[in-house]
Amino acid sequence: MAKDENLTIADIVNKAKMYLSDDDIDLIQHAFDYANEAHHDQFRKSGEPYIIHPVQVAGILTDLEMDAETIAGGFLHDVVEDTDVTLEKLEEEFNHEVAMLVDGVTKLGKIRYETKEAQQAENHRKMFVAMAKDIRVILIKLADRLHNMRTLKHLSAEKQRRISNETLEIFAPLAHRLGISKIKWELEDTALRYLNPQQYYRIVQLMKQKREERESYIEEVIGGLTEELKEVNIEAEMSGRPKHLYSIYQKMVKQNKQFNEIYDLLAVRIIVESIKDCYAVLGIIHTHWKPMPGRFKDYIAMPKQNLYQSLHTTVIGPKGDPLEVQIRTKEMHEIAEFGIAAHWAYKEGKQVKTGKQSFEEKLTWFREILDWQNDTHDAEEFIESLKIDLFSDMVYVFTPKGEVVELPSGSIPLDFAYKIHTEIGNKTIGAKINGKMEPLDYKLQNGDIVEVMTSKHSYGPSQDWLKMTQTSQAKGKIKQFFKKQRREENVLKGKEAVDKEIRALNIEPKEVLVADNLQRVFDKFNFTNEEDMYAAVGYQGITAALIATRLTEKIRQTRQKEQDLASTIEEVKTDNAPKRSHKKDSGVKVEGVDNLLVRLAKCCNPVPGDEILGYITKGRGVSVHRSDCPNVQTEEARERYLHVEWEDGNTDKKHYHVDIQITGYDRRGLLNEVLQAVNEMKTNIILVNGKSDRNKMAIIQITILIHNTNHLRKIVERIKQIRDVYTVTRTVQ
Ligand code: MN
Repeated sequence: MAKDENLTIADIVNKAKMYLSDDDIDLIQHAFDYANEAHHDQFRKSGEPYIIHPVQVAGILTDLEMDAETIAGGFLHDVVEDTDVTLEKLEEEFNHEVAMLVDGVTKLGKIRYETKEAQQAENHRKMFVAMAKDIRVILIKLADRLHNMRTLKHLSAEKQRRISNETLEIFAPLAHRLGISKIKWELEDTALRYLNPQQYYRIVQLMKQKREERESYIEEVIGGLTEELKEVNIEAEMSGRPKHLYSIYQKMVKQNKQFNEIYDLLAVRIIVESIKDCYAVLGIIHTHWKPMPGRFKDYIAMPKQNLYQSLHTTVIGPKGDPLEVQIRTKEMHEIAEFGIAAHWAYKEGKQVKTGKQSFEEKLTWFREILDWQNDTHDAEEFIESLKIDLFSDMVYVFTPKGEVVELPSGSIPLDFAYKIHTEIGNKTIGAKINGKMEPLDYKLQNGDIVEVMTSKHSYGPSQDWLKMTQTSQAKGKIKQFFKKQRREENVLKGKEAVDKEIRALNIEPKEVLVADNLQRVFDKFNFTNEEDMYAAVGYQGITAALIATRLTEKIRQTRQKEQDLASTIEEVKTDNAPKRSHKKDSGVKVEGVDNLLVRLAKCCNPVPGDEILGYITKGRGVSVHRSDCPNVQTEEARERYLHVEWEDGNTDKKHYHVDIQITGYDRRGLLNEVLQAVNEMKTNIILVNGKSDRNKMAIIQITILIHNTNHLRKIVERIKQIRDVYTVTRTVQ
């Protein structure tokens, strides 16, 4: 591509004749004549006739060997925007396809772009591609931008910067994505010249200083290799690889490298006939010079996403400097330079016009491109990336501030609102599209400016919204709103019901709604917090009565105990205590309460010396149990414990019932011997009960009167001495 001098229509026609039919040439010529007429009274900022610009754009497209419609589109790309010519006229004068291409380019020209962050740049690129619909629209737009960059010097400094930024962030990446490195490099280098002239000219200077040295070095390398390759009958074109200022700049600035450290300053490109030759040449180079570890890359076996293929290696060259080598076939070279456009040229005559095709057909077309690729996995990934980037079912719209928002196509303003923020979605009452009120189910179009109207008095989404919205994000948030709303109602309802039940038990809710008490109930029913509990009651997962019962359990027990104790004390004070069967002093005192009569429990029969506890009965005073009595070990019983002690002093005058069980071998005379032994100890026997089982096991139960545990122990020891006695146990009923 000639940068410095302008192409003429004759140059373009000559080039096009090399690969297009006569009919195609007629179309191109007609497009030029028509554009020339339409722009005849217009001039560019440089003072040149305006037509020079579309001619150069068409020239760039011809260099890419694009089809006739695309080149015609290049000539005509500015007529709808800048002259009286309409799309209808173009369609009449040429054909639908040319009109569509011009329409696409015109629409892309209306996208406003402001540099924000990387994400926004990516969204802009996506919107750009989605709006273009036909990939050739992007190629025309790239050619347009390339010529504008070449003539940027005529614009103001401010415009130069803005356009250069846009070029770096939108157009160069698009060229890269489509594999058109020829355009990509030129766009980047030119943009750098305007955005960072200091660095740009410094790099130019550095490269100039070493040019001669470098060129003779490359010549030496190529010379040597030519001999080698001749010997093995490999035909190769070799050249010093062109240097791209922007890539050097990036490595110096972003990777913080010195100019001398950048390997590809010394680079050789070798173009051969076949893939086999590529690897053969690689072998020769690696036997000649020592390869640098980690620098070999096989993009033939594993092509890059944009279909780029080549072998890359870096070796320690003849003078001990790193030397980068790229090896590829002619076909690969065309793809590397022209990318997707190169493929267009290969398929000449039967191009698929992507604009009209279904998505499936478009995919087929891309699969054809991928036929070169060996690695199917990569191929799938590539198709996947094209799906997103080129034909995605996405729509790209603007916020009023100019940010791009990406949504699935078919999305409506509500989807947009929920994407911005949940609260905006919930409070939406209307939408303005491009400044005009539209219904909430309006289908968003690429490039629409969407302004959502909200009201803080809105009651929130309606059920219809679930059906209208397109994105799962919006649907999810609407559902969430309904769920939350019902939950709030349920929580209120539940709390009311629980409070009511608690009050019915004569307890103030605030007495039981305290942390540790609540935690006990949460644990029991698997709630995580109070709201959960009320919500469950609200939607009747559990009854309020059950919650109230559990919540008040402790407080009710405590109250009962206090009440029982108080009434017992009251009985004593008023001397209304019922007459007990044995009025004898039990020998037990209750701490802090005088004269309180207590009963010894009949189940465990405590005797002085036993560890004991008091138990407040319901309405029958305090009973005294042995601490280990199984009858008072329940959780509920513990609530009613009362501290009691044996009175000090001589217990020899008092008698206590004790039940003892003796087991032994059932022989004649055993029972007699037991009774005799107890008698010997001067102890009264109240009750005797004896029986034996089938295994000749005798079980003897006696109730005796003793003074204390000492006395009891002596009796037990004595009985144990009797022949054939197995066990002696104190029993509990
Ligand atoms: Mn233009």
